[in-house]
Amino acid sequence: MIFPKKSLGQNFLIEKNVVKKILNLLNLEKKMVIEIGPGKGALTDEILKAKPKSLVIIEKDKQLTKFLSEKYSLIKNIKIINADILKVDFKKINTEKNILIGNLPYNVSSQILVKILKYKKLETKFSDLIFMFQKEVGEKIIAKLGDKNYSRLSIITRSRLKIKNYFYVSKNCFFPKPKVDSIVIEFLPIVRKDIRFNSIETLEFITNIFFSSKRKMINKAFSKIFKKHNETAKLLNINLNKRPSELSFEEFYKITEKYEK
Ligand code: SAM
Repeated sequence: MIFPKKSLGQNFLIEKNVVKKILNLLNLEKKMVIEIGPGKGALTDEILKAKPKSLVIIEKDKQLTKFLSEKYSLIKNIKIINADILKVDFKKINTEKNILIGNLPYNVSSQILVKILKYKKLETKFSDLIFMFQKEVGEKIIAKLGDKNYSRLSIITRSRLKIKNYFYVSKNCFFPKPKVDSIVIEFLPIVRKDIRFNSIETLEFITNIFFSSKRKMINKAFSKIFKKHNETAKLLNINLNKRPSELSFEEFYKITEKYEK
């Protein structure tokens, strides 16, 4: 018997229609696919039916990895890896244009997303990403300027990923049933012409400074970052009376670029 482990965010999908809806988002035939956290294989089974060229599945739980190795022992184009995705070096998996799929473990879902965003060759390594997040996290990711969930995660994500599609999934579609609903989001890697900063780490640092005083005007945060902060704000055409949630994606990217210089 396999008992679900809360510590590994194990809420297994039991609703076949949701699995189908996820996989209907794109054609996997002859594609190279990587799945994060296959669990007992709810998504894996359907991925295999779609006839991918190859499938790599990465599962942290030893017991589940053993279960999956037995379940798929006759399948030739599957590679089963027992590892923590947060420690996996993407360079070592496949070559280019992989499709990355995962019903992510809720406790580390944003960390997984940020790890992917920090991967230098994101746009050549992956052609499409489909992830399921817990509703609250997903709504932060898809939020735009003016939305109540507009956050660091929206700003960081949009710098390298475009949101192509999303839909909600009820908590009743899982066992054990989680406390909250989920969202499936499909992303496409992009290279934005208006982004001229080099590292996501700098953007993380800048957004952290701004959003740690979320309700205050950005004047103070700005003065922590730039010595001649009034001059710099003028140069960048940024109004220091705004609050962090009133600054656009582009304004955060401009500030990050200036800081790196
Ligand atoms: N894909 C399955 C499904 O939809 O039924 C399981 C999804 S469950 C929400 C998350 C899965 O990720 C679990 O199987 C869990 O063991 C695995 N997992 C948790 N943390 C992980 C990590 N750091 N690296 C890889 N897999 C992880």
